[in-house]
Amino acid sequence: MTNANPVIVVIEDDPAIRLFLRTGLGAHGFKVFEADRGKQGIIEAGIRKPDIVILDLGLPDMDGVDVIKTIRGWSVMPIIILSARSTEQYKVDALDAGADDYLTKPFSLGELLARIRVALRHSVGSPAQEQSGIFTTGSLKIDLLKRQVVVGDSEVHLTPIQYRLLSVLIKNAGKVLTHQYILKEVWGPSYRDNSHYLRIYMSQLRQKLETDPTQPQYLLTESGVGYRLKV
Ligand code: CA
Repeated sequence: MTNANPVIVVIEDDPAIRLFLRTGLGAHGFKVFEADRGKQGIIEAGIRKPDIVILDLGLPDMDGVDVIKTIRGWSVMPIIILSARSTEQYKVDALDAGADDYLTKPFSLGELLARIRVALRHSVGSPAQEQSGIFTTGSLKIDLLKRQVVVGDSEVHLTPIQYRLLSVLIKNAGKVLTHQYILKEVWGPSYRDNSHYLRIYMSQLRQKLETDPTQPQYLLTESGVGYRLKV
């Protein structure tokens, strides 16, 4: 990370959560600015030019998804959303509007820091793995230049679509991706609603890459939302 003290703007109306974030993130060297309303949050995001925005979706003055759309009108700064458990579709809408990731309340500081690390890495641009052309996680090793996939000591053959699906996940490693996003990237815009394609191919990939496909270690399901490649 190039910036010694990354700046975070927190947009959240719950004072207890703001206190938790201010204290926890402050202790880890982040400079935290706060807003308790959407409109004020957008202004803070504009003035502070933060490295990350943490946004509660349930705000009193405006829809969290509209906050994302407004910020996305002029910035690609990473946005991590906070949301209540029972709102899967809302999370999907927020991710499709341009949010980078989400956490479901209640969450731990450890989980949040992990999400922040992933978001900062993506925003910095080309991770070391991309430069070397080799992606590794656990016993998986993918050579993106040779299009070679190795699990443990054995090379695994993937079909072109399976490989494309895996490379979309690698390009966004650690980030949650919605079903629609993956369908669009792998199959094209007209396949957005063909979730069953994705289920079938994800299951094939798991058969080939996971030790136990029923208990995936790498290709994780984000219930009701999409998938995430664990890093
Ligand atoms: Ca709220």
